[in-house]
Amino acid sequence: MALYAELHRHLGGSVVPRVLWRYFERHSSELISRFADYPEFEEFYTRPRNTLDEYLELHTLVESVQTVETLPYFIYRLLRGAYIFENLAYLELRYTPYLRTPEHLSQSQRIDKMAEIVDVVGRASKISEYPIVTSQILCMHSRLPYEVNKAIVDLAAQSRQYVCAVDIAGGDSYYRDRLKEWIELYEYALSLGINTTGHLYETTAGFYPELLPYLMRIGHGIQIPLLYPELLPDLAKRNQCLEVCPTTYLKTGTLQDIRQLKLVFDRCFNAGVDIAICTDNAGLHNVRLPFEYENLLTYDIINFEQLQACQDAAFRHAFAWPYSQRPASLLNGLLKPQSAQILAMKTN
Ligand SMILES: [Zn+2]
Repeated sequence: MALYAELHRHLGGSVVPRVLWRYFERHSSELISRFADYPEFEEFYTRPRNTLDEYLELHTLVESVQTVETLPYFIYRLLRGAYIFENLAYLELRYTPYLRTPEHLSQSQRIDKMAEIVDVVGRASKISEYPIVTSQILCMHSRLPYEVNKAIVDLAAQSRQYVCAVDIAGGDSYYRDRLKEWIELYEYALSLGINTTGHLYETTAGFYPELLPYLMRIGHGIQIPLLYPELLPDLAKRNQCLEVCPTTYLKTGTLQDIRQLKLVFDRCFNAGVDIAICTDNAGLHNVRLPFEYENLLTYDIINFEQLQACQDAAFRHAFAWPYSQRPASLLNGLLKPQSAQILAMKTN
């Protein structure tokens, strides 16, 4: 049995269409009144969009129903699915806490409410029936002002039992005008000892070499091996890992064919840059992590050995995985105690 680590999953995009449909049926049927039936809704929800902006717009639909009251409902179903269908042993869940607070409140009231959201997500993620190690990544957002983003970093520092890192999200074409601000926020996060990742080099408009030195991992980053391979040796030196989410690039129109990812993997393997394969929005895509793996094999983008290297990399670069080994080594001792004993005898 292989158990996996998922490093890049958005809370908003993690709700599978069936769960969202059921929720709407039970609680907000007016939101789905324009769909004749479930298949029509699923088609709308999962179909590819033309641009990253259009794609991100869909997140707001889910954000609007993920409130303090409803988050435990969605998180329970998310972890149940992740445990039963995806074999996840480890999950980092990311979102912008400010966007889960009530819109009618003032900015400072909404900032004050963010801690409660982190707490609710943290408590809802601890489910004894589905024992997955979970942690949260708080996303700063390109649409939010500096004060809110700084408060997000502060909250990450105050909530270490639940939060392992900060991120920047909201479309990678929008950071340029406030680049100094983002650098300052990342410097601040690092000074507080917070781990960092960031949505960069996802699209051809997301080129920010200035931000790279501040990141421990890079959200997507596929345009680096595709368009700026000269940067790869620096990434390798800094031990930065790319969080590659194959289905996303087809849903956002960033790539036309999944086979374009072969160059991404080949160049990263050659340069010694680690890749963790992730889902980004497993619900929105209706593609779970094992299917992301299988697709890459089916299209000959990677082989089994390379897949295992990526799966190992995911555990190595996980911000909150508490063990030094991946689960296979831990399980061996449990499931095959005899062979572990024989091995111990041989090595003694
Ligand atoms: Zn993402």
